Amino acid sequence: MKNIFCLAFLIPATLFLSFPGTTLIPFTFSNSQTMENQKNYYCEYCGHKFTSVRQLTSGTCPRHPDGSNKGRHKLYEGSEKSEYTCKYCGKKFPSIQVMVGGQCVNHPKGENKGHHAPAL
Ligand SMILES: [Zn+2]
Ligand SMILES: [Zn+2]
Repeated sequence: MKNIFCLAFLIPATLFLSFPGTTLIPFTFSNSQTMENQKNYYCEYCGHKFTSVRQLTSGTCPRHPDGSNKGRHKLYEGSEKSEYTCKYCGKKFPSIQVMVGGQCVNHPKGENKGHHAPAL
């Protein structure tokens, strides 16, 4: 005597998951979203805004780690954001300029031994 009725409960429910007629709508994203007409560049040390890298790297930085104006501005290589996070302590700031104006409790040189630095 073989009980084959239990097989009826094993019919996979996946049969109901196929929806005929669902056509994939091709999304045509334009890859030409370059927006390079007005790109800004920021110094990682002082947060000063420049319109070209050349301009940025040609000037001396008042917040250079070696001392005020002891070196040139350093290009912040991250993208322009509405909010910047300090890579040492994780605190958030509305701009690099505001960020680097404060001392960081988690600075690698010691507590409050240096300024916040933007994460990329
Ligand atoms: Zn600078
Ligand atoms: Zn910090």
